[in-house]
Amino acid sequence: MNNLKITKIKESRASSIDFDNLSFGKTFTDHMYVADYIDGEWTNMEIRPLENLSVHPGNLAWHYGQSIFEGMKATRDEAGTPLLFRPEEHIYRLNASARRMCMPEISEEMFLEAVHSLVKLEKDWIPSPEGSALYIRPFMFATDEAIGVRPSDTYKFIICTLPVGPYYPKPVKLKAEETYIRAAQGGVGEAKTAGNYAASLYPAKLAKEEGYDQIMWLDAKEFKYVQEVGTMNIFFVIGDEVITPATTGTILKGITRKTIIEILKDEGYKVTERPITIDEVVEANKKGELKEVFGTGTAAVIAVVDEIKFRDYVMHLNPDNYIVAKLAKSTINGLRNRTIADTRGWVVEAGATIDA
Ligand SMILES: *Cc1c(COP(=O)(O)O)cnc(C)c1O
Repeated sequence: MNNLKITKIKESRASSIDFDNLSFGKTFTDHMYVADYIDGEWTNMEIRPLENLSVHPGNLAWHYGQSIFEGMKATRDEAGTPLLFRPEEHIYRLNASARRMCMPEISEEMFLEAVHSLVKLEKDWIPSPEGSALYIRPFMFATDEAIGVRPSDTYKFIICTLPVGPYYPKPVKLKAEETYIRAAQGGVGEAKTAGNYAASLYPAKLAKEEGYDQIMWLDAKEFKYVQEVGTMNIFFVIGDEVITPATTGTILKGITRKTIIEILKDEGYKVTERPITIDEVVEANKKGELKEVFGTGTAAVIAVVDEIKFRDYVMHLNPDNYIVAKLAKSTINGLRNRTIADTRGWVVEAGATIDA
């Protein structure tokens, strides 16, 4: 593909940024990638200076929610080479979200060309401090200008990049939720679609008022099985078993989750994907067998949990003693800055697949 137009900014803002003090999600790089879906195909692929969009008030995405996204990270090795982590996994999942939301898919070739080209262009924006990265936010939304519930005929696909510091500087406190749900069987819980997060805001606000950082979602039918947390999948270490809920339709299939399962299995851990009830977690805690609880996701990487509340029962954990979470985190971070050799083909140099 050679039809990507690149229009560069006159002078980069990168040198004016304090990369040691980034708050998550507020600083955008100089450029963005934009493409349009018109008459059944993707067209107008362009990398251009970041700017506002002009959108009609009838934009279908605003009214009926056809909007999906991804979250990835670029890092650098000691020589400054920009690196991507398992980028193809993100286009597979973006397309799975697109199918569920009745939106057009994007070819792997188009997606990879976009991500590689943009990250290569913005490589001076990749922060070097430990735990920092260039967050990559690909997203797609409907653009038909009409009121009426139906799938849009036109769409925009955009990628923005943002230098970010650590997502959770401290251990997180979770509240197991028994009133509200995140996703039901047959719903859209497996899709990375905007409405899932809108629906989570009110229950998350209530949890914050009680002093909890995030909600631990239980299943929608019985409020019995643990699902996931905010924007992370969840892992428990009980005795010598590492357990994460099986993804059977209501849980977002995290790429960090998949990566950590593989890393821990290779390290010789017994890792099980299976349904796990909140009662089992409570029982394990009472018996002193609940060793670790942590969340996994691209933004947070690994977030250790130091407290879980279920009804009136509060479990206190000590992340200073976590072994599995520490190993998973140091391995992922080491792969991402190439201080640990990548034997699985997960780490790719940004720009490696394009001529530019
Ligand atoms: C993105 C996301 C995750 C984590 O997925 P990763 O691919 O590891 O970033 C987990 N749960 C939800 C609800 C998410 O949106």
